[in-house]
Amino acid sequence: MHLCEKHLIDDVTRKAKRDLRKYNIPPGTIAIALSGGKDSSALLHLLHTILATNRKIRIIAITIDEGISNYREKTIENAINLTSDLGVEHTIVSFEEAFGRTLDDLIKTSDRPPCSVCGALRKNLLNRTAKQLGASHLAIGHNLDDEAQTILANHLRGDVQRLVRLSHTTRARVQPGLVPRIKPLRHVPESEVTAYTSAVGIRVCPKACPYMGGAYRLGLRTFLNEFEAAHPGTKHGIVRGFDRMIGALSDAYPRATLVPCRVCGEPCTSGLCQACRMLGRG
Ligand code: SF4
Repeated sequence: MHLCEKHLIDDVTRKAKRDLRKYNIPPGTIAIALSGGKDSSALLHLLHTILATNRKIRIIAITIDEGISNYREKTIENAINLTSDLGVEHTIVSFEEAFGRTLDDLIKTSDRPPCSVCGALRKNLLNRTAKQLGASHLAIGHNLDDEAQTILANHLRGDVQRLVRLSHTTRARVQPGLVPRIKPLRHVPESEVTAYTSAVGIRVCPKACPYMGGAYRLGLRTFLNEFEAAHPGTKHGIVRGFDRMIGALSDAYPRATLVPCRVCGEPCTSGLCQACRMLGRG
């Protein structure tokens, strides 16, 4: 579709609203994981607009400062400006305060890929902070492209357990100790998120994270973009197909029971969470 700015904003808002309704969120606080990048900034702007007249739901923003020099400073500045413009309560927490080291430091001594270390620690800190702030839900800015790539990657690796963990159903999201995650942008293509940020005047840092990538993920991204160009609707098809089969898949492969990590208390499956394992604790 070729849309003017107004109709583009209306269309993206309609898609986000439709997904938000599916989550059936009760009165309370939604914490938005705000990196200051385009997806999370668009998500904050959208939820702020959609829920502006809803007095029963409060939105707050949480930014994780992983400690990535020459990159994160700029996106944090954007996050501060956006929350200040919108009047949204904003909490910034850092790896350095929570774990004693920045990501730049941690990866010097880790044999794991930077995104693997970053992802495990960020998940831990986001969940912990959302709980401390009394949030009932944690909103993540994953768009349609992210979702299609993740579903396809798990299919290609044959990793059914990880596939099941992507389930967006209420039953799958409610786990002891875990603030349920919601993804209101999961049906909005990345290109539309970019166009939305530009249409509503959100400042976006043009730099990408210096650790971004991994040939596997970038290869999948290129493949899906090329396939989408040749066969429009491919990304929607992957997500739609996943949504149709996830109920049966979750029954066949139930999620492991979560227990508190013996070091930090965050939920995990083995008694020692990924974050503490990576930090060499316990
Ligand atoms: Fe962390 Fe990787 Fe994202 Fe950079 S690209 S912020 S290292 S997960």
